[in-house]
Amino acid sequence: MIYREYGNTGKKVSVIGFGGMRFGKDEDYAVEVVRRASELGINYFDTAHLYCDGRSEAIFGKAFKNMPREFYTSTKTMLRIDPDADAVRRRIEDSLNKLGVEKINFFHMWCIMNLEQYTKIMAPGGPYEGAMKAKEEGLIDHLVFSTHCKGQDIRKIIEDKVFEGVLLGYNVINHPFRQEGIKAALEHNVGVVTMNPLGGGLIPQHHEYFDFIKQYEGESVNQAALRFNGAQDGITVVLAGMGTLEEVEENIKTLEHPLTFSEEKREEIKRKIAKDMDSLCTGCQYCISCPKKIQIHHYLQAYNLKVLKDEETMKKQVDWLKQAGRIKEDDPIAADCIACGKCEVVCTQKLPIIERLKEMGEL
Ligand code: SF4
Ligand code: SF4
Repeated sequence: MIYREYGNTGKKVSVIGFGGMRFGKDEDYAVEVVRRASELGINYFDTAHLYCDGRSEAIFGKAFKNMPREFYTSTKTMLRIDPDADAVRRRIEDSLNKLGVEKINFFHMWCIMNLEQYTKIMAPGGPYEGAMKAKEEGLIDHLVFSTHCKGQDIRKIIEDKVFEGVLLGYNVINHPFRQEGIKAALEHNVGVVTMNPLGGGLIPQHHEYFDFIKQYEGESVNQAALRFNGAQDGITVVLAGMGTLEEVEENIKTLEHPLTFSEEKREEIKRKIAKDMDSLCTGCQYCISCPKKIQIHHYLQAYNLKVLKDEETMKKQVDWLKQAGRIKEDDPIAADCIACGKCEVVCTQKLPIIERLKEMGEL
């Protein structure tokens, strides 16, 4: 395992971090998966009270009990659910209880989507105040934030110097959109953890298309995608969601080859992205609050197939979504979009959703 300093915190964390959002129903097996990751050198474990229908923190709690190797916990509070200092305090106590630890090492203000939310978090009596108080009492080591803001806004938050680290979505597909944030973190020696290295499953689902990101004989596309993040200057930890022992082993094997990415390969990826990859939906579902209740992520992921293959394949995917019951008969359809624009404001990929839905509606 490779360990890196997390910003100015004095903590050395494993370059591959464990994302705890993919545990299955069998909790004993999930515990085994976490403990195996620890045996193989992973020491950064990320969770949230909502992951796995609220079971994730407690699964970690069981796994951490008498775990022989040192580990760091990361969990979160969300403005929408915990809107003030008191609610955050209750959240921290609940997380400590479920995780079975005396202190949360990295506590996140979760999912800051824009500067307006950031301002609410920082307001007197708000979530930040509650978390800072808990920090002063020794319940938290480091206060950090997670975000889907654009690079310039991430820079603004980092430059306010109120957080010691940032968790952001970063991968082969969306990386140009986030460069400014990583640069700001580097300049201020703030730790950077990246989530979503596989583009919300898009990379493994279209592994033939993404084959070109591989650099080594025998490596998988997933490993190449983790390497892409881990080799980037300024990135401390690459979080990978793990639900099985096989996934743990595969992710760790990424480090059998050097954690570097050649300049030629980066250039090749940049060229391809400029051509088409930047326009793919990652299925993150941040657009879920459509007033017309359109299942935007399903339609936009089907549209990916038009970008990657052709229109016919996209149409087949929409038919399949209907047959499989993902889009139900009485669900609103693409053509029901009223172009209110709410989804485009929050879209993490900044996609022209309205235009795409209109095109699909016409088809
Ligand atoms: S623009 Fe269309 S798809 Fe987007 S939120 Fe509004 S109605 Fe829904
Ligand atoms: S349309 Fe945008 S916000 Fe919605 S799932 Fe796709 S990438 Fe995420």
